[in-house]
Amino acid sequence: MDETNLLTCRFCGERLNVLFADLGASPLANSYLTPAQLHQAEPFYPLRVYVCASCLLVQAEAFETPEAIFTDYAYFASYSDSWLQHAKAYTEMAVPRFGLDRHSLVLELASNDGYLLQYFAAKGIPVLGVEPAHNVANVAIKKGIPTVVKFFGEQTSRELSEQGVQADLIVGNNVLAHVPQLNDFVRGIKIALKATGVITMEFPHLIRLVKENQFDTIYHEHFSYFSLIAVEKIFAAHGLTLFDVDELDTHGGSLRIYAKHAEDASKRIHPRIIDLRRQEENAGFICLETYRCVADKVKATKYGLLEFLIRAKREKKIIVGYGAPAKGNTLLNYCGIRSDFIEYTVDRSPHKQGHFLPGTHIPIYDPDKISQTRPDYVLILPWNLKDEVMAQMNHIRDWGGQFVVPIPEVKVL
Ligand SMILES: [Zn+2]
Repeated sequence: MDETNLLTCRFCGERLNVLFADLGASPLANSYLTPAQLHQAEPFYPLRVYVCASCLLVQAEAFETPEAIFTDYAYFASYSDSWLQHAKAYTEMAVPRFGLDRHSLVLELASNDGYLLQYFAAKGIPVLGVEPAHNVANVAIKKGIPTVVKFFGEQTSRELSEQGVQADLIVGNNVLAHVPQLNDFVRGIKIALKATGVITMEFPHLIRLVKENQFDTIYHEHFSYFSLIAVEKIFAAHGLTLFDVDELDTHGGSLRIYAKHAEDASKRIHPRIIDLRRQEENAGFICLETYRCVADKVKATKYGLLEFLIRAKREKKIIVGYGAPAKGNTLLNYCGIRSDFIEYTVDRSPHKQGHFLPGTHIPIYDPDKISQTRPDYVLILPWNLKDEVMAQMNHIRDWGGQFVVPIPEVKVL
């Protein structure tokens, strides 16, 4: 117990005094550096996560305003083939299931570069995106996806309602966890939803994070880490009821929750909700002790990864990275891995190439660099996409190269 902590729970307002994980100090995980910035001071912020002893919401301390983090964002969703595939499959499911047609409206919160709404638009279904990062929003607008460049919350929702905008389907993929003002955001959803509308939200599942040791998905942009139990409580507090849930493999294991107005009697509660709630209870996620055990596992992973890297470097092996995801930056900064271990990393996004990883200053190149330098090991930083990466980069086998994943523990593939 840390009785000196003055932080309070972003949902229920209780004092936060139970630590979940302490990853030291890190720069913001998406603040990639230009060559000129390498010569400047770089802000590092404590990366600590707590669990609320009252409502069990796992949450990080917020140091930067959302404006500082999200107004010029380096993540363009359309650069991942598997994520586009996921978006397309979601559209194929949602259109018939929710009876969407040219009279409907699909509203996506944090619509990024239009990676998802483009598939609804292609079916003639009206869409609207809300995206605070102007650089990614502009890409969507150029594609013909109407996008409001704003943060979503109660105020934006009221403004939209005044213009007659209410949605049949509100989608939020990997945004709920990124919202510091959680109550304001969920209040906004309630306002923006038609009487019989549906909300679906996807977010990494806390239970997978804990069981599979995915501590690198903790970073400053990621304010909350949800179990079904916690998210159900938050939605209920704002008059929204969860009526179904899917367990997905995306981002190392996510939940897709389906919600409706509490007053909407047209939808039945699926038994999957009851089953998953029971699974979480049986796995101990209603008990603080389960959350307290995470910290030791995190340290053991660091020791294992460093042992592998030190051994490989003593054997004069060349190690490079693949990918420059936010989670890679948490891992590398927490473990103190810089270009002394990983000579460079590569990324398919031209927005990241020519830049350097925050904190560790590892350079980011085009993936072709790997064929030119023929490294012994390629450390896959987005380990959740390892199958896709290994298929794309299979030619490293030609010179005896091997893939390595760092999570749940270091492993050569
Ligand atoms: Zn709480």
